[in-house]
Amino acid sequence: MSDLTQTTWTNWSGFQKSNPQQILQPANTQELQSIVRDHTKIRVVGAGHSFTPLVCTDATLLSLDRMMGVTHLDVERCRCDIYAGTRLYDLEQYLQPINQALINQGDIDQQSLAGAVSTGTHGTGVDLHCISAYVEAFELLTASGEILKCSRTENPEIFAAGRVSLGSLGILTKITMQNRSRYKLREHIELCPVEDMMQHIQQWKHQHRHIECFVFSYEKQLMLKTLDETNEEILPRKENFPSDDTLLTLCSELTKSFPSLNPYLQKLLGIFVKPTTYIDWSSKIFPTPRNTKFNEMEYQIPVDQGIECLDEVLHALRKHKVATFFPLEFRFVKGDDIWLSPFYQQDSISISVHQYHKQDPRLIFDVVEPILQKYQGRPHWGKMHGMTTTQLRALYPKWDDFMALRQELDPQAKFLNPYLEKLFLG
Ligand SMILES: Cc1cc2nc3c(=O)[nH]c(=O)nc-3n(C[C@H](O)[C@H](O)[C@H](O)COP(=O)(O)OP(=O)(O)OC[C@H]3O[C@@H](n4cnc5c(N)ncnc54)[C@H](O)[C@@H]3O)c2cc1C
Repeated sequence: MSDLTQTTWTNWSGFQKSNPQQILQPANTQELQSIVRDHTKIRVVGAGHSFTPLVCTDATLLSLDRMMGVTHLDVERCRCDIYAGTRLYDLEQYLQPINQALINQGDIDQQSLAGAVSTGTHGTGVDLHCISAYVEAFELLTASGEILKCSRTENPEIFAAGRVSLGSLGILTKITMQNRSRYKLREHIELCPVEDMMQHIQQWKHQHRHIECFVFSYEKQLMLKTLDETNEEILPRKENFPSDDTLLTLCSELTKSFPSLNPYLQKLLGIFVKPTTYIDWSSKIFPTPRNTKFNEMEYQIPVDQGIECLDEVLHALRKHKVATFFPLEFRFVKGDDIWLSPFYQQDSISISVHQYHKQDPRLIFDVVEPILQKYQGRPHWGKMHGMTTTQLRALYPKWDDFMALRQELDPQAKFLNPYLEKLFLG
């Protein structure tokens, strides 16, 4: 077992920091079990890509980085059992030879599978769920050191709760994913008037496998991205010059130093964004480089109210002259049956707001969050939000059932950190 003692831990954006007593990396399930039996407080980290203090602890931090890979393939049902710490970008090497691919993915592939599953990480697509809803089974190491197999037929309640559980029920060791056969996607990006999108998006959303909008607060045109399945020849993504990331960093630095420039910088969008089309295997098309660091808030709004909510958010950003160069992100996610999934029994429009990591994110989030909450939005668990226990309980019909199950599985709260204690126990 590796012990990276006394390391300061920070999340991807650098906003969350903590000083765990030790960071342990077990090499196998037996080592993991003995750590769980021997320690009173444990948090588990995936890739540290959450913006909330989910992982922060001054006790023991556990990383499953040495427990990666695929353990079992089910070719007939197009499923496979994957070690929980496996990074999404590593999956291709296991899935490609057996003609399998994830059904949907988000914007990046840096997350661990367990981290992505535990927070309900999602991409976009009106008929597509978040990644947690494609979990068919998992193994959970509980506070007592026991490993439970969970699926729709074995421990069904823990299965319903455990697919989005923020590491609070125990440690996921293996996850069985429902995949599909490999597929290519055609990515198309173009500018589109915001007004047109607002008028037609409810039709357009059915015309593409995936549709996503990047909306700038001061610019009348947005970036529309669609992905559709295709059998066409590969047309690989080319790096623009200057790269999108270079421009984003430059414009964010300028906005930080000269906030009044923000509207003018956003209006330059039309010069830089040209219509582009790329074709590649899904695992190459879904992720995009995210080298300009930011902090993010995201809420899932009931699908019929998403446009009205977006409009109100845009007005508020302009009214309060909030200086952020980053666009709002607008995506579709289909509802599911997972107790603490933000999409529980609710088809949603996901609206996210970003702030450059060198600017105080609270200024923009304070303006936007009351609006997202007014529309009964449910926050992304991995992205910043200021919701209280009382507010969350009102939004999640299965909140009390989840808390009772958590109490039963982990009565000493071994797996809770101060952040989750406050969030769950009030
Ligand atoms: C640049 C960037 C882009 C992003 N894009 C998207 C996107 O497109 N869509 C989206 O929905 N989200 C997105 N996110 C958010 C991200 O997907 C989630 O926060 C995700 O949880 C991060 O995965 P991780 O492996 O880093 O998990 P971590 O942040 O390390 O952990 C997340 C949670 O999972 C728990 N956990 C980790 N491993 C285990 C385990 N083995 N057993 C039990 N619990 C475990 C942790 O305790 C914690 O509660 C993005 C984040 C960043 C920084």
